[in-house]
Amino acid sequence: MEKQKTLLKKVGIGGISLHTGRRAHLALCPAPEDSGIVFARKDLPGSPRVRALVENVVDVRRGTTIASGEGKVHTVEHVLAALSAAGVSNALVEMDGPEPPIADGSAKPYAELVEEAGILVQSADAKISAPQQSMIVEEGDTKLVLFPCDEFRITCIISYGATPLDAQFFSGAISADSFKSEIAPARTFCLYNELEALIKHGLVKGGSLDNAIVMHDGAIISKDEMRFTNELVRHKVLDIVGDMFLIGAGLRAHIVAVKPGHPANIALARKIKEASSPLAKVV
Ligand SMILES: [Zn+2]
Repeated sequence: MEKQKTLLKKVGIGGISLHTGRRAHLALCPAPEDSGIVFARKDLPGSPRVRALVENVVDVRRGTTIASGEGKVHTVEHVLAALSAAGVSNALVEMDGPEPPIADGSAKPYAELVEEAGILVQSADAKISAPQQSMIVEEGDTKLVLFPCDEFRITCIISYGATPLDAQFFSGAISADSFKSEIAPARTFCLYNELEALIKHGLVKGGSLDNAIVMHDGAIISKDEMRFTNELVRHKVLDIVGDMFLIGAGLRAHIVAVKPGHPANIALARKIKEASSPLAKVV
């Protein structure tokens, strides 16, 4: 039986936040069995906490936001993806503001942070959700289908028509090793014509070519070489890994995602959670 895991020691990272543009510091700390992943806003009176669970998701525009009482944290998906892939069940994530540092726009710095902390195996059994029947979420062009599977796999297809990339495809099992080498380094991206709306909504204040790839008029604007020829679809897989961790358990299922985004990811996570009894086994 797989056991719960936490971190061996406290580790931290600092940097600019994508949407607020503020400097932020985040620390990953060990946590007791069955406590799950909990974010703590150390900058607010009483350090309010919010557990990383789908029932606490309050916003899915351009990132996943969770809140409980006075505790609210934006853009939790990259840090959650790194913790999920490493099999960390319990961790306290201390923050000094509303949003984690965006770092280079990927989950690589977070995967390295988890590695720096080290893993402590705890004695309680890990919570695993293994849905026994397929599920589907459809929203416009977006389709997410979950199939029963004895491992966590993601198959993803994206297409942005007028870009030279057109369709991108990725399929693979998500393990600690595959996440680190195949998924974590993939950076966030946006479409140039979306930027104006984002800025109008007061978002992406910390956005720059240091932490994002921009697609414009059939071209890719990137400060560095692309890290993978299909880097964009790999980042979509990264976001799915992070969003699915909000079910509060490890997932054993194959998700096939066509043009996914946070709204559909979270809708699927809610379905998985709702179906966890009696159609799925949470062990
Ligand atoms: Zn992302």
